[in-house]
Amino acid sequence: MGRYQQYIGGEFTDGAGSTDFEVINPATEKATAALTDATPADMAQAIEAAVRVQDEWADRVATDRARYLSEAARLMHERADHLARVMTIEEGKPIAEAIGEVKYAASFLEWFAEEARRVYGDVIPSNSKDKRIMVIKRPVGVTAAITPWNFPAAMITRKLGPALAAGCTMIIKPSELTPLSALEMAKIFDEVGLPKGVLSVVCGTDAPALAKVIMDDNRVRKVSFTGSTEVGKILMRQAADTMKRLSLELGGHAPFLVFEDADLDSAVTNAIASKMRGMGETCVSANRIYVQRSVVEEFTKKLVARMAPMRVGNGLEEGVTVGPLIEPAAIDKVERHVKDAVSKGADLLLGGQRAATGQGETGYFYEPTVLANVNPSMIITQEETFGPVAAIIPFDTEEEVIRYANDTPYGLAAYYFTRDVGRVFRLAEKLQYGILGANDGMPSTAQAPFGGVKQSGLGREGSKYGIEEYLDVKYISLGGI
Ligand code: ADP
Repeated sequence: MGRYQQYIGGEFTDGAGSTDFEVINPATEKATAALTDATPADMAQAIEAAVRVQDEWADRVATDRARYLSEAARLMHERADHLARVMTIEEGKPIAEAIGEVKYAASFLEWFAEEARRVYGDVIPSNSKDKRIMVIKRPVGVTAAITPWNFPAAMITRKLGPALAAGCTMIIKPSELTPLSALEMAKIFDEVGLPKGVLSVVCGTDAPALAKVIMDDNRVRKVSFTGSTEVGKILMRQAADTMKRLSLELGGHAPFLVFEDADLDSAVTNAIASKMRGMGETCVSANRIYVQRSVVEEFTKKLVARMAPMRVGNGLEEGVTVGPLIEPAAIDKVERHVKDAVSKGADLLLGGQRAATGQGETGYFYEPTVLANVNPSMIITQEETFGPVAAIIPFDTEEEVIRYANDTPYGLAAYYFTRDVGRVFRLAEKLQYGILGANDGMPSTAQAPFGGVKQSGLGREGSKYGIEEYLDVKYISLGGI
């Protein structure tokens, strides 16, 4: 894909760095693009540019700011094929999924373009005749986003959309593994004439050093992060000194519960959607599939039959539904989980090894894998796998499976399949998760709140709640009336 440049203060530039870094295509293991490795000085420059334009941006009327979002979304749709191709080459996901992500990413810009106009205040009855109480909402100021590689476009727009709509400027530090989609979107925002400095995209391999510039700067008032719980905790500690607001979308370990009264075909279809989207490399991927004992055999058979023909290969090829994992370490982790489960008595019913794709020995491919008779002693039931492995665990009662499902430090997404309406509500209340898919394996959408409880993070993205993360509540006590 050639050379790319940083986007700092409204300019495409090589920045202050003197060395390059390469973006590797995980399907070929070959470098596909290069750009200068950003330095802390580049990050500082991006923050300066944001600080300079912040007041002017915040003072614009909402409909004016919204126009840039709508126009950028329109261009994303228009160029979906190109953006998707870039995404598949840097991230690996099959092209059809990449097109889906580009549209999903644009939907956050569209949603928040509309929400910009609905930043309402309040008038509250006062206790004294000569006073009035009013509440207004104002942008928090300069913000920053640190984003992961698994959704190279959507994890950016889910933060950038509400930030710009609320009147905040934003500096984005995308994952060093997938900077190209971020820079492609920067080109679009540049083209629609977003004022210089409102958005910067700073890409580099030394994430801790770049993040430190953000975290140490008192003028950056909010950081939104999506990534591992481990890094989320580091950022939370670092935010303390300047008391920054934080949104943290961290790891998950989603349970997927199938009761005997469920529509089994639908449960299988949704399990595959949840498990195999992005090759299982998402924080809402089903990581533990609990199936009631009376239907476990039938469910397992159907799941294996549907996963066996899935075609592994380069995501650019037609018919491929399972792309490569992101990097060698991802394969190592999946192998470790599968080996551990098998050594402790799990039955390997499908896959279980690196995939041969017929494309030589290159690419970080792993076969779609099904493990049955998994139990809580196996690592796969505790650590996020981030790979195409379906782990099936039999259970007997509702009470028991609620206990199992909640037995994790994470609390992002949980799924359950049942036709019993009472159970739908009982589980919604008892499962300690921020997102509940009741007979739904794909609940994410721009108008719904995405986010976790427990160690899966803080705050919500998307929906009417998402913009609140970028707004400060200000109370005006008007006296002397
Ligand atoms: P993942 O497992 O999804 O790669 P990470 O938490 O490692 O999750 O990465 C998510 C984002 O956090 C990436 O942009 C990465 O560069 C960045 N990152 C990694 N380590 C740190 C750190 N110590 N401080 C700040 N950001 C970091």
